[in-house]
Amino acid sequence: MTELGFALETRGLRGRSVACSGQPYCRFAQAPTKPMLHMIVERLEQRFGHRADGITLSIDGCPHACAFHSTADIGLQGTHTRDEFGARIEAYDIYIRKGIDDVKAAAAGVAGIL
Ligand code: SF4
Repeated sequence: MTELGFALETRGLRGRSVACSGQPYCRFAQAPTKPMLHMIVERLEQRFGHRADGITLSIDGCPHACAFHSTADIGLQGTHTRDEFGARIEAYDIYIRKGIDDVKAAAAGVAGIL
């Protein structure tokens, strides 16, 4: 399974993270979720190691919140914004729970990734 890209390690940040169906699987999605979740988990694990183990991360592709992004330590919700030329581009709103130092540091890392 690991060779196919399905990690069997379910502890820590990786085990606590979830993404909704997102693009291209859900017609409501405004942004991809699963590739973004994979990228963020990889980056946070590299940067923070086991310090990120207690963090929950949820990513939804729209406000319907099937992955409950608003209740996670770090939540992303797919949306759109405009670039400097006025073109519509994918974006994410970031939700951060207050008062957890590692979450603050990790959230800063997420903002840097996006
Ligand atoms: S949160 Fe939105 S995009 Fe994600 S599965 Fe639910 S309805 Fe679809």
